[in-house]
Amino acid sequence: MSKVAPPEELAKVDHTPPKKGWMDMPVELKEGRWCYGSKPKDHEVIGLPNPRAWSPGDEDWKLPENWQEIFLEGMRERLDKFRSFRLFMDICVRCGACADKCHFFIGSGDPKNMPVLRAELLRSIYRGEFTTAGKVLGKLAGGRKLTYDVFKDLFYYLFQCTECRRCSLYCPYGIDTAEVTMIGRELLNLLGCNIDWIAGPVANCYRTGNHLGIQPHAYHSMVEFFCEEIEEITGILPEPSLNRKGAEILFITPSGDIFADPGTFTAMGYLMLFHYLEGLGLDITWSTYASEGGNFGSFTSHEMMKRLNSKMYAEAKRLGVKWIIGGECGHMWRVCNQYMDTMTGPADFLEVPKSPITGTVFENAKSHKMIHICEFTADLIKHGKLNLDLSRNDQYKLTYHDSCNPARGMGFFDEPRYVLQNVANNFHDMPINTIREQTFCCGSGSGLNTDEFMDMRMRGALPRANALQYVHDKHDVNMMACICAIDRATLTTLCEYWVPDVEVIGIHELVGNALILEGEKKRTMNLRAEEFPWVEEEEEEEVEEAPAEVILEAAEETAEEVAEDAAEETAEEPVKEAAEEEAEGEK
Ligand code: SF4
Ligand code: SF4
Repeated sequence: MSKVAPPEELAKVDHTPPKKGWMDMPVELKEGRWCYGSKPKDHEVIGLPNPRAWSPGDEDWKLPENWQEIFLEGMRERLDKFRSFRLFMDICVRCGACADKCHFFIGSGDPKNMPVLRAELLRSIYRGEFTTAGKVLGKLAGGRKLTYDVFKDLFYYLFQCTECRRCSLYCPYGIDTAEVTMIGRELLNLLGCNIDWIAGPVANCYRTGNHLGIQPHAYHSMVEFFCEEIEEITGILPEPSLNRKGAEILFITPSGDIFADPGTFTAMGYLMLFHYLEGLGLDITWSTYASEGGNFGSFTSHEMMKRLNSKMYAEAKRLGVKWIIGGECGHMWRVCNQYMDTMTGPADFLEVPKSPITGTVFENAKSHKMIHICEFTADLIKHGKLNLDLSRNDQYKLTYHDSCNPARGMGFFDEPRYVLQNVANNFHDMPINTIREQTFCCGSGSGLNTDEFMDMRMRGALPRANALQYVHDKHDVNMMACICAIDRATLTTLCEYWVPDVEVIGIHELVGNALILEGEKKRTMNLRAEEFPWVEEEEEEEVEEAPAEVILEAAEETAEEVAEDAAEETAEEPVKEAAEEEAEGEK
């Protein structure tokens, strides 16, 4: 892990503009701000070119000899193929409306992290290599040639963008800098320059179906383990089905929910919900093969994104299900909602999702036939189908982080809040300019949640942390909920560093806590196996109450004994008197 300065140091950000123009600032790869290079073995698995051992910290990146030609040809192809890309290269007026909207600029003060400049790194090559004005006038027309340093500059800053799209929200021309980053990363790929934390997970998804490379039998064991934990807590043992052909619904969630805390508690929440609904007609199966909802391909290239998205649908076809429920994930949703239709076309072999419990038809999923579990659960709650005890989440004072992909990628703001506020009592939103479509990124998305990148991650996390600190100070918030597996990992690190009194939780962990299962035992602990605070209080009260009961019982016993003795005495009295009289007579 890279060394990170303490929070009070990192929070001192210098936004003074540099004295030199940005084109005259040479690339300088700072420690903690770049990610390790992709490994040759992963290149081979996913067909990335130029497999070799390399590091961005090296002088020589071992590029192919004709690297400029490859790059520029790739750029030409994409300018022809994606009209949006050409537009984004042409129409920016450098108004600066996006400049201070990026969390990486806010947290680092580095001008090349302004979205306008990040895209300008590529735009300047476009002008210098593809436009007449740029070719003739060069720098005067904002153009520059593709040199080795320019290429390194691009790599450094394209992997300091989390593709969160916050900047695009403020651009009067609708320029989507995240799209520029995506295409820029594709161009880097053409020369074999990717990062380890993207190429590795994508290769794992190819090999075993999930980014962690976990085998199907290990996935199965984890699900069984969760069921045993649920039995320990509730007295009820769910018996989910895996890889079952002919089920109505396929459930796919990010593997982070299965293998990493706190996502594992969210997975337990799903299992409890599905168990609860079995009796109401839910026919659902998990898959140990489509064991990754997250799409790491979307951080790499359109082609990788398409291939990983197709895997989920191939499994749906193999199992013969009618439709899909997706777990709490971010980029799975952006890919389905923003890209799938034009990349692969609609999933015509599946049916439009219809809840077997409420009859609701999810028209919004007419094309990709997959709904988000928060939509499913919100609908159940709306129809009064869940028996819930909100007080079991009373130890939490909650806020909600809108994950960038579901929020800005699909306008998914209200359903998670609706579920949250129906399973827990204490909720406070963060300030309005930091939530919903204006949400701030966790600072580590799009494959950047690596330890060697920690300095920039924590800088990028600063705006989100500020908003969290605000509700922590004002409302005593101690838990931040979210619906993205990457966020559950990255926000945990953010909280530990910036706001250590706050933890992170998935919405369905809260659902699992509140859900009253038929026949369950009295719950004394939450899904984290932490005893509810009131259990101890209740026990203390019982101890305090105990002596009074004992006294009362003893008093009752004594009274009974006294009464019995008195009765015996009363009964003995005449006998005694008669005996005495008799004795007297004998005398
Ligand atoms: S997409 Fe997000 S990370 Fe990238 S430049 Fe825009 S605001 Fe910054
Ligand atoms: S807001 Fe849009 S037009 Fe203005 S500088 Fe940013 S990208 Fe360019």
